[in-house]
Amino acid sequence: MKAVIVGSGVSGLTCAALLALEGWDVTVCERADHIGGVTALAEKDGFRWEQGPLLLGDLFPGEDAARVLAKAGIHLEIVREDRGIVLPDYEMWAPAEYQGPDWRRERLKTLFPQEKKGIDRYYRFYDDMLLLSRLGASPKSWIDRIRVALAYVRIKPLMPLNAQELMNRFFRDTKLQALYLGILADFCVAPSEFSGIMVPFVNIETAFDKRIPLTENGRKIRNGFGYIRGSVHRMVTELARVISEHGGTVRCSSLVDTVRIENGKAVGVRLGSGEELDADVVIGSGGGKEFFRERVGYAHLTPEYQAIVENFRPMESVFMVHLGVDFDPLRYQPSALCYYYGTYDIEAAIRNLRQGVYHHGSEGFLIYVPSQANPELAPEGHHCITIYTVAPDTLKEGDWESIKETCADELIALAERRLPGLSEHIKTRLIRTPLDYREIAFLRHSAFGGTVPDRNLRNPPHRTPVDNLFFVGAQSETRGGITGCLIGAEETVEWIRQNLSPRRK
Ligand SMILES: Cc1cc2nc3c(=O)[nH]c(=O)nc-3n(C[C@H](O)[C@H](O)[C@H](O)COP(=O)(O)OP(=O)(O)OC[C@H]3O[C@@H](n4cnc5c(N)ncnc54)[C@H](O)[C@@H]3O)c2cc1C
Repeated sequence: MKAVIVGSGVSGLTCAALLALEGWDVTVCERADHIGGVTALAEKDGFRWEQGPLLLGDLFPGEDAARVLAKAGIHLEIVREDRGIVLPDYEMWAPAEYQGPDWRRERLKTLFPQEKKGIDRYYRFYDDMLLLSRLGASPKSWIDRIRVALAYVRIKPLMPLNAQELMNRFFRDTKLQALYLGILADFCVAPSEFSGIMVPFVNIETAFDKRIPLTENGRKIRNGFGYIRGSVHRMVTELARVISEHGGTVRCSSLVDTVRIENGKAVGVRLGSGEELDADVVIGSGGGKEFFRERVGYAHLTPEYQAIVENFRPMESVFMVHLGVDFDPLRYQPSALCYYYGTYDIEAAIRNLRQGVYHHGSEGFLIYVPSQANPELAPEGHHCITIYTVAPDTLKEGDWESIKETCADELIALAERRLPGLSEHIKTRLIRTPLDYREIAFLRHSAFGGTVPDRNLRNPPHRTPVDNLFFVGAQSETRGGITGCLIGAEETVEWIRQNLSPRRK
């Protein structure tokens, strides 16, 4: 059985590797001259930078992303890490001396003494949500069953609330609310659009202190965060290795122009060169609107699926400056990654973003030092720094090309307030605008992390109305990110295995 996979990002390569392991004859077609999509590294003057995912979750043993990769025989070395958060009036860094898993809640009580009760109530809710996600589907003992039932009763009234309403239930002070809502700017989703009960999952406490234990008495109780040793690109090179070791092919510089469909069934693809590849199954990835409008054609979709494709909302983009420096930025920033917020009004920030208004870093940015976990990315004695912020794909006024140098200077100046002397130590810089991200991911509208997780919208499902045609990747996942991509790929391959693979004797 033959499968053609469109796109060599994490999603396409995971599908291809899992199918190749099942004995399928797989061909991955990638338009770019290299693999990886947004996980490909940028390179200049001896420095290399990650362009996509940063601190990753779910990669430790027993966690979802690690489990999918292990299915493909891939075991990555993960460096456990955490990140800081700086808001206009207070900062949250892991304490120098470990103070247990609850240090953030205790510190918040000293910062916001009038909110003590709300903080306790929020963390009871947080613990309930994590318990439900860990044990809810299959509580093993009767004690667990009772704990799950009680947690469910407690959280049920909160289920209809959006993120803003949920925060209002617990806290009065918007400065405290912003600690938990700030991350939504990363997903380009307004608090009023995001499901309240998901707030704990985008604010997992282990992301803020790498010393919090992940197991207790040998039992897995929490998921961790970390960097892949060798950079995130290692994940895709490992997947490509598995594909080739199992007889598959990854073809770069091979644009898929059209999915060939006969009698409602995908039968292969036509490349930009005119070459035709036959296949029993075609799996698309990348931009959902681009794939279905331009490669498949709406004539082949049901009105319902077409409406989903039209209505789902891709995220906006990022403006990024990569720097190569000859000093150690970690003297000033204790973690490799920190988010610096400049506003407490996330709802307004998202509204402006959607209207094409760029905030020039004033609403927030992050500083990431990829060479902390992977020193080989920079020449000896040097570091790589990435400064970036969310930005509209298309500006309401002006264009990215003409303002990019000024925007880069502005971000560097903001970062310099945190990293004194930064500009004197810059050896090289590389700017990435939303236009570059359109090119990197081959999108007409650059959407850096996939789709907006708006609780009222649906993303294109993996199974399409065309027989034997599937769609995977960041724009098909509500969970988003690397973990969502891996799980989506796994689910799709599992469906194909159960329904389309030849029965094994
Ligand atoms: C700046 C940034 C920060 C991020 N931070 C995080 C994070 O901290 N944690 C996290 O989990 N995730 C993060 N993400 C998201 C995560 O990286 C992506 O969701 C994931 O890598 C997307 O993988 P993909 O395979 O769906 O798509 P992509 O990586 O976009 O790959 C799609 C590929 O398909 C190719 N393609 C498309 N159309 C065609 C065609 N017609 N023919 C041939 N090839 C085609 C493209 O060239 C591309 O290579 C971040 C992303 C970015 C950009």
